[in-house]
Amino acid sequence: MDKNNEMLADLLYPNARDIAYYLNKYPMRTQAGEVTRLAPSPTGYLHIGQLYQALIHKLIARTTGGVYYLRLEDTDNKREVENAGNMAYQWLKKFGLEAEEGYLGNLGEVGNYAPYIQSKRLDIYHAFAHELVRLGRAFPCFCAPRANKDEILASREEKLNSTGDIEERDVCRDLSIDEIKENLRLNKPFALRLKSLGTDRTYEFYDEIKGKRDLHENMKDDVLIKSNGIPVYAFAHVVDDLLMGTTVVIRGQEWFQSLPVHLELSDAFNFKRFRYAHTPDICKLGENGYPRKISKRLDPEAKAEYYLMQGYPINAVLEYLLNLINSDFELWRKNNPNISLFDFPLELKKIGLNNPLFDFNKLNDISKTIISKMTAEEVYDNAIKWAIEYNKNDYDILTKHKDKFLSVLSIDRGGDRPRKDIVVYSDIVKLYDYILPSFKNEFKFELGNVDKDKLIAFLINYQENFSMPIDNNAWFNELKEMSSNFNFADNKTYKQNTTAYAGNISDVSRFVRLAVTGRE
Ligand code: GLU
Repeated sequence: MDKNNEMLADLLYPNARDIAYYLNKYPMRTQAGEVTRLAPSPTGYLHIGQLYQALIHKLIARTTGGVYYLRLEDTDNKREVENAGNMAYQWLKKFGLEAEEGYLGNLGEVGNYAPYIQSKRLDIYHAFAHELVRLGRAFPCFCAPRANKDEILASREEKLNSTGDIEERDVCRDLSIDEIKENLRLNKPFALRLKSLGTDRTYEFYDEIKGKRDLHENMKDDVLIKSNGIPVYAFAHVVDDLLMGTTVVIRGQEWFQSLPVHLELSDAFNFKRFRYAHTPDICKLGENGYPRKISKRLDPEAKAEYYLMQGYPINAVLEYLLNLINSDFELWRKNNPNISLFDFPLELKKIGLNNPLFDFNKLNDISKTIISKMTAEEVYDNAIKWAIEYNKNDYDILTKHKDKFLSVLSIDRGGDRPRKDIVVYSDIVKLYDYILPSFKNEFKFELGNVDKDKLIAFLINYQENFSMPIDNNAWFNELKEMSSNFNFADNKTYKQNTTAYAGNISDVSRFVRLAVTGRE
């Protein structure tokens, strides 16, 4: 060990512990399965992409008999929104995707690897920063932070001009120990940078989703600890995932390009590298006709809450996402209609490489099917839970007319081919408004060849005399019989001589439906 490096490490981080302390403090995990983690930053609400990630983490851990834990990455205080960490946890919980270990929102945290909140781990980061300096793989940089792109470009220009060296190497890497001491004596703030040893070599890397990829070695002396003592993502990720025993880092593909820095950092510490899986982005078609990532800023559907506000059942959202994650989910669901979706044996290698396009038609279809399998009571109770939170008006109507809604929701339920007319809970009051006393039937219709006088006479008679049989066939037979008294024929007879009849049974059914519900 170079004495100068040891001295420098102590100068920069005088209070740091030896990393052995932390390596001993946090026990090696003993379970055989994968250890995965969701690491949200408290930047606002929960994004649909985070739900998608959380599902992957949870199911991979569950399928392999491992652990899924939650870590709050709150070191970027510029982006932090108050209480957002707790909100993110609460939302995950609402979707059944909270973890059994780690950060629990305002309830604190649970597990052997605490703290799971990065802002409470600064002593740990400083110990590892001290170690990296000791190893000669990090150095202090006293340049003022470059606030914007122009400043960064200007500083690079300078570097190239003065040293003729590769632009990614930072000017401060060559400061002598005396120069550093002098800067420290003057109380100049410093950032800690990685002393990169990378070359322009490319090598093969295996990503658990993307497969074999060519990666460039890192050549940048990236900042690891900012001048306020707070680590950047790259540094915190490597230290945390090491100490917390993560086996596979599953994260969005936007991180793939900074992977070389993360790998160089792990190697500098001489840690065993983690396995990585970079997931595709959920996209939608942009205004220009090209797919783009669903964006917090532009798209209301980026928010996980959006789907609950609309009245989708939670399982519909999760099953839709599972479809995007592993395309064989649908078949699995068909073969296992009654098993919890959390028991789906999700596999990383079956995640497609292409960015999936969010398809509301598919989501609606899944949602309809899920609602169609519920009992009338379940639909009603879920609609009430939705309305309490999101629609006071519907809540009042649903509670006031509970019995009527329960009976209308019972129609065509429970058989082999249940009715699939409800997509979201917010459909219910609109769809069945005809059962309400306030309903005004203002239906518009084309009479076509139907005899108007006969039709009106039939409808009045039907309203007065129909017996409301329970059985569908009995109901239809009664309708046929009663309408035949007004010269309506079955379809086949009608076709043989259209002018001889007032209309056919299809017309009758249609007008009964219109008269009752106001809808086609
Ligand atoms: N805090 C990072 C984010 O929110 C997490 C990235 C990761 O999963 O490693 O994007």
